[in-house]
Amino acid sequence: MATEETGTKVTSESQPAAGTGVREGPSPSGSTGHDIPEMSPFAAVSFFFDQAAAHIDLAPEMREVLRSSYRELSVQVPIRMDDGRLQVFTGYRVQHNGARGPYKGGIRYHPDADLDEVRALAALMTWKTAVVDIPYGGAKGGVRCDPGAMSLGEKERLTRRFTGMISYVLGVNRDVPAPDMNTDAQTMAWMMDAYSSRYGYTPAIVTGKPVELGGSLGRDAATGRGVVYCLREAANDLGIGLQGATVAIQGFGNVGSWTARIIGELGCKVVAVSDVRGGVRRDEGLDVQAVYDHVRDTRSVVDAPGTESISNEDLLELDVDVLVPAALDRVISGSNVGRVRARVIVEAANHPVTPAADAVLQDRGVTIIPDILANAGGVTVSYFEWVQNIQQFRWDEDHVNEELAKTMSRAWKNVHARATVDGISLRLAAFAIAVEKVERAARLRGYV
Ligand code: GLU
Repeated sequence: MATEETGTKVTSESQPAAGTGVREGPSPSGSTGHDIPEMSPFAAVSFFFDQAAAHIDLAPEMREVLRSSYRELSVQVPIRMDDGRLQVFTGYRVQHNGARGPYKGGIRYHPDADLDEVRALAALMTWKTAVVDIPYGGAKGGVRCDPGAMSLGEKERLTRRFTGMISYVLGVNRDVPAPDMNTDAQTMAWMMDAYSSRYGYTPAIVTGKPVELGGSLGRDAATGRGVVYCLREAANDLGIGLQGATVAIQGFGNVGSWTARIIGELGCKVVAVSDVRGGVRRDEGLDVQAVYDHVRDTRSVVDAPGTESISNEDLLELDVDVLVPAALDRVISGSNVGRVRARVIVEAANHPVTPAADAVLQDRGVTIIPDILANAGGVTVSYFEWVQNIQQFRWDEDHVNEELAKTMSRAWKNVHARATVDGISLRLAAFAIAVEKVERAARLRGYV
């Protein structure tokens, strides 16, 4: 079963990021010509939010309400490991804003998960669900652990215990988790079962479940498919020729691998892919299915037949038409942005480009399709899954994909129109649209 966002069991991103080199921080100066310093994930999301708030002239009191989280839960999760030791993990669930509907967002397992990161990702979910106009607020969860070093049984115990601890803030109409980095449909099955054993059978309590347990057809591929639909729309409207265009994808987990497998439908060729262990390239175009089969057999893209190897850092700096960061956050920062040569960047990962790097890329005229738009296909099909669970009615896969295409296309058109009319970046336009929607809902509900 594939894992959401990055890393699958086969390409776990859960090993210490140091080995990949992709997360190495900013240069010592940490700044660019714009003097925007490198900052923590939540500071960065707040930076983008503040830009949008200034652009739409959001009232100061509303800024205060929309910038911070509604609720932040931090729990201690003690687990008996297979060797008999007790290990105490820390878990988080942050609910950022619920003005537009139940809190919604994934749960990630990662050694670097902390409150600041989860808080940032929760806020991004609020803006993401608003950009694609699905009736949810934003939340995120995480457990600081190294899933690559844990057995299946340990992960199951961790998941069940963590679910029990956060269960009182969850609910079909309150907060609905989903997979994220290093969690997958199996994780959601355990969460659903743990919740259901307390409160009665409740499939709609999580999305991204196995299809056998009420998961939606098409959910597994949805984030990658959404990335591809979004790029297709952008290319049409911006006059970017995709026939023969070269694409490099960082990350070969759920999002990266599905993007790689589907993007060929647009006429592009994937020339490089990578995972936590390293990358592979082939300038004439990779046989993506062969790489995928190699990953199934060896757990990594490294040494896929007929390819040359490339590091994660070098992949980001390839002279390609389209770069798709689909792994960790903050991989393009002030320290490497000067060497990034792609013409278009599609943010399949959450927060892959820091504000400092963003400013440089915007100046250079690089088209960046921002995360809250580009990777919203996952949560969109989560919404379809939730709807199917509530209605106890299954959609066929074509219907799911058609509705996903409509949602992504509508969202792209709104963001592009706003960027054009206001003369602003796609990111600022996406944030402006999102903040306006949430503000309107918050006012109508009488929050402020
Ligand atoms: N984890 C995914 C994201 O970052 C999906 C969230 C969901 O489906 O609720 O958008």
